[in-house]
Order: sequence, then C-alpha cells, then structure tokens
Amino acid sequence: MENKKEMRNWLNEFNLTHPFVIAGPCSAETEEQVLKIAHELKDSDVSVFRAGIWKPRTRPGGFEGVGEIGLKWLKKAKEQTGLLMGTEVANAAHVKLALEYDIDVLWIGARTTVNPFAMQEIADALAGTKKIVLVKNPVNPDLSLWLGGVERLYNAGIEKLGVIHRGFSTYEKTKYRNIPEWQIAIELQNKFPDLPLIIDPSHITGDRNMILEVTQEALDLNYDGMIIETHYDPDNAWSDAAQQVTPTALKQIFIDLKVRKVDD
Ligand code: PEP
Ligand code: MN
Repeated sequence: MENKKEMRNWLNEFNLTHPFVIAGPCSAETEEQVLKIAHELKDSDVSVFRAGIWKPRTRPGGFEGVGEIGLKWLKKAKEQTGLLMGTEVANAAHVKLALEYDIDVLWIGARTTVNPFAMQEIADALAGTKKIVLVKNPVNPDLSLWLGGVERLYNAGIEKLGVIHRGFSTYEKTKYRNIPEWQIAIELQNKFPDLPLIIDPSHITGDRNMILEVTQEALDLNYDGMIIETHYDPDNAWSDAAQQVTPTALKQIFIDLKVRKVDD
C-alpha cells in the first residue's frame, strides 16, 4: 500500500502513509494466542491490534469471550509490541473496564448500535474520553440508527470518532455474510464528512477468500481504513473461523491492494 490522501482529523496523529489498519483475531482466546498474533503483526502496516473480549453471540451456547482477563493479555501485547489495542464494548461496565486497562480503541458492535438505550449508556460512560471510539453499522440496513449512535457519542464530547462499515443482515442468500449496501455508508459519510470510514471486509464477506476484493472496493470509494480479522490458525479459531486470514495472508493483501494517491 502507498499513500492515499491526507488523513482526516484524529487519523493525522498516526502519521500514516497508508490507510489505517486494525487487525487481530475475532476473539482473544488465550494469552499465548494474543501475544503470538500481535508479534506477527508488529512491524507491518497494522496500527491497532483488535481482539474481542466480550463476544455478542447471536444464539447462546457458543464461546462468549474470555472477559476481563483478556484485557490483561491486551495490555501485555501492547507493552511487548507497541501496537495500540482495540476491543468491543457493549455496555457501561465494559467501557469502565476497558478504560481501566487503558485500551486505546473501543468499538461498538453491530448488535449494540441497534439499541438506543445501550448507545446512550455507552456514550455517558465514555463522556469526554480522548480514546478512539468506532461505531459499527447496526445489523439492519437502517441509516438513522447508525446516525443516532454517532450523534449520541458526538453529544457526549467524544472527539476521536469513526465508523466501521461491516455490512447488513438479509434473509436472502447472497455471496456475502452481510450485504454491503455501499450507499448507506456513503450517505453516512456525506452527513459526517469528517468521520473516518473504515471497512470491515471480514464480517461483510464471512469468507477469507473475498477479503481482498471487498477491501479494494472500499479503497476505490476512498475509505480511510480497514479492520481485518487475523489469526495464525484461522480454521481452529473459536469464532468466525471461515473469515479470518493468517498474518502472512494479511501482508500479501497489503501488497496486492491498490491505494489511490492524493492527487488522483
Ligand atoms: C466482531 O468484530 O468480531 C463482531 C462481533 O462484529 P459485528 O459487531 O460487526 O458483528
Ligand atoms: Mn468476528
């Protein structure tokens, strides 16, 4: 990847010469897994390491995340690699703990953005924070819910805001796990032109073989960054196995991506 355009607002702090990249496993599974993946991602285009600690599973009985202990692993990964750390928060208790462990990037998942009560609670718990806060689109294709979530956070005085486009659920059978509905993200960006827009090709496609094409489509639309699920042993991941790529595959994706230059 090479330089694309001048980064907007808080992204400038990163002194990026390429799109902003968040990568790491869907879920933190063990301390060894977190540290191994973080080490494999340091010294690459990755700025932020991601790992879910509290996993919002659609149905009960699946792996629901390791909880607070995972925050200790992330702290250790940060000390050892210098990568910033990011995780999903879904309520005020999660926010409180994530801030206690000095997590750098807190994102709100698609199943939480749909709930105005949860969004308000999270906004109140985050009020005035200097941390980076990213809002995924809601699971359903509803621009107002996404906007409403962003507005609640804006109103709480959060300056480093961004949005993640992870696609929308549909009952139709399509090649995607969640259909992109690109126009919804574009409309949101038109309403909030200063908000960095990040593509989540992992949850859009549900398929590691489609990550490159969807990320390229987003970069062609001038997206600012990407969040890509990455695991050293994707097939045996405890969640979202089919869509995770290895660190080696991720680095190949970086090589293959064509990034627009500022003056294009
Ligand atoms: C995730 O990032 O692992 C996740 C649960 O994503 P989403 O909220 O987009 O489903
Ligand atoms: Mn996932």
